[in-house]
Amino acid sequence: MRAICGEFMGGLARIVHLLRGMFKLSRHFSMASAIGVIAVVTALSLFYRYLATSALMTHETRASVALTKVFANSIWSGYALFVKNASGIPKAELPQRKEIAELRADVLRHMKGLNIVKVKIYNLDGLTVFSTDPKQIGVDKSNSPGFLRAQGGHTVSKITFRDQFNALEQVIVDRNLIETYIPVQENETAAIEGVFEVYSDVTELVTQLKKTQLQIVGGVLFALSLLYLFLFLIVKRADGIIKTQEEERKANEAKMRHQAYHDSLTGLPNRASFAERMQEALRRAKRTQQSVGLLFLDLDRFKCINDSLGHSVGDNLLQLTAKKLQARVRETDMVFRMGGDEFTVILENLREPEDAALVATRIIESMSQPIKLHEHEVTTTVSIGLAICPRDATDAETLVQHADAAMYRAKEAGRNRYEFYTENLNVKVLERFTLESGLRRALEDGEFMLYYQPKVSVKSGEIIGNEALLRWLHPERGILTPDKFLSVLEDSDLIVPVGEWVLRTACQQTKDWQSAGFPHIPVSVNIASRQFTSGSLQATVRRVLRETGLAPRYLELELTERLLIENAGAAIEALDELKKIGVLISIDDFGTGYSSLNYLKRFPIDVLKIDKSFVRDMVTHEKDAAITSAIISLAHNLQLGLIAEGVEDLNQVEFLQSRGCNEVQGYLFSRPLPPEEFQQLLSMGNLSAVLPDKNDLAVAAK
Ligand code: C2E
Ligand code: MG
Ligand code: MG
Repeated sequence: MRAICGEFMGGLARIVHLLRGMFKLSRHFSMASAIGVIAVVTALSLFYRYLATSALMTHETRASVALTKVFANSIWSGYALFVKNASGIPKAELPQRKEIAELRADVLRHMKGLNIVKVKIYNLDGLTVFSTDPKQIGVDKSNSPGFLRAQGGHTVSKITFRDQFNALEQVIVDRNLIETYIPVQENETAAIEGVFEVYSDVTELVTQLKKTQLQIVGGVLFALSLLYLFLFLIVKRADGIIKTQEEERKANEAKMRHQAYHDSLTGLPNRASFAERMQEALRRAKRTQQSVGLLFLDLDRFKCINDSLGHSVGDNLLQLTAKKLQARVRETDMVFRMGGDEFTVILENLREPEDAALVATRIIESMSQPIKLHEHEVTTTVSIGLAICPRDATDAETLVQHADAAMYRAKEAGRNRYEFYTENLNVKVLERFTLESGLRRALEDGEFMLYYQPKVSVKSGEIIGNEALLRWLHPERGILTPDKFLSVLEDSDLIVPVGEWVLRTACQQTKDWQSAGFPHIPVSVNIASRQFTSGSLQATVRRVLRETGLAPRYLELELTERLLIENAGAAIEALDELKKIGVLISIDDFGTGYSSLNYLKRFPIDVLKIDKSFVRDMVTHEKDAAITSAIISLAHNLQLGLIAEGVEDLNQVEFLQSRGCNEVQGYLFSRPLPPEEFQQLLSMGNLSAVLPDKNDLAVAAK
């Protein structure tokens, strides 16, 4: 039952829903219902009246006919001749005739107790031979339609209302009368001898009929009102359902529209919205002859944060970035999230391109403030590319491409900065794409190779280790150093497989040299941030060591300060695990990053590598000398191993030695070498020979 009701309501709701489009439901329903009810009641009432009146007429006519027959049977024979010949009697005389008086007495006798109020008798000439109203005796009715019809053998009735009427014995008022013309004949087949006109008073019946009619109308009206009320409630309910459905539909539509045009994480308008808004902004700019600036932003090293601190921290960072961006632009400027860690800002009505640069600077400054994300203090930076319409392009697609290219330029130029689009950027972007596709192929085609640079003890001249450095043997450009391609490797996922290849090749080479009888010295392998955060580094190290058979103590992993700080949360755990394997950990380029003493204490580190930028100038610049000395004593105090990289001359050796740093790496002893050449160094066993005489050193020091 419920289901049927539900279906019915649903169907009704659908119909009403259709109708709603055409008019306002409840008002029109009420109006239509009222018209319908009035029409039905009126039709019913008229129909009833017609039926009742016809029934009444039939009934009265029959009664009159019966009466006439009775009358005819009983008295007609006595008067037939008189009636027939009455036309010959002078009109004035007629009422005085004794037959009239007798006729009146007979009529009154027969009518007694009946509802007949008047009787008239006509002869076939249409002369009123007799009437209960004596004044009418002698009147000619030969042209009366009722008489003529009766003369032709038909009984005719009609109902009339009379204000005043001369009845048999008195004058009556406001009466409904049925007037019937009846042909008089002895039997059905006999000739017509005269016509009776009989008036019956049906006022009471008509009153009764009206009363019944009123009752019926009232009843029907009541029933229809109930029906109307019932339907009205249903319609109202359906109306309510539709209203709710309509509201839900509208809310859903609004939600879907919002979802289609907004990013669910940050609430910012998304790429689809950007495309539309950009077009609009460009159209407006064309009309008003104004400039539009487009900022293309990409968070620096966002992947590292996401991978190391988890996606919820990454999400949080994106949300905060969205807030910061919105806070740093004017209300009329529009910020979008294009996907991932990419955002765009449309700046309309730019007075000059430098205004866009101001906004970019503001954003960069606000982004570089450290933020707290789930207990982690994180510092992120952003690289921004700028393109201006109409200066750089007038269509949205090209403008975006240009801003994107400029953003890549900002990344290449060291990140945490903005770059304007310039025409030669396109060439750079193309180069970058070519480079990336070349790198993808390089691993499969075996174009990578490792060079090895010795680490030397300045006291003995012995090679105490080496660093494996990546080279790309480019098919056209020859040997390329990492500065030409490492950033592309790091920005793409390629660094993970290439890093694994480096690790395996370095370990295998070291093991091979050990097996060949060369001194057992550790190999240092540089680890990129993405490798560290990929989560698979520990397993890869374990697997490579197992597969190559190299003892863990001969593998040293070089990590940068930045890598450790940016991944502070996960770093301790990861380093602990690596230490458990038994490999050594060194901090590369020490002093160039955060130089946080805190992490030196917390992380299980074995060696500090003094960055070559300090080594280069430490002999000539006091500050570099002070920093180098401080790093050396820091390492001693924390009982960490120490090595200086980038040592190119004897003065630097002397300086380092005098401060207590006895291990160095640099061109002074050897440039990074291909394996076979490095093997020759190993065969020499000792590099003292490449060092000048001590005296020369003293001279050089002076
Ligand atoms: P790094 O780890 O600090 O490596 C030392 C860099 O200094 C090497 O540059 C080396 O050739 C250079 N160098 C060595 N001695 C001297 C010197 O006396 N003077 C000067 N001016 N430079 C010297 P290279 O090979 O171009 O590598 C650059 C950087 O690329 C490396 O810096 C390292 O961070 C990265 N890298 C190299 N190989 C790999 C690798 O296999 N994986 C990863 N992730 N990074 C690598
Ligand atoms: Mg290194
Ligand atoms: Mg270094």
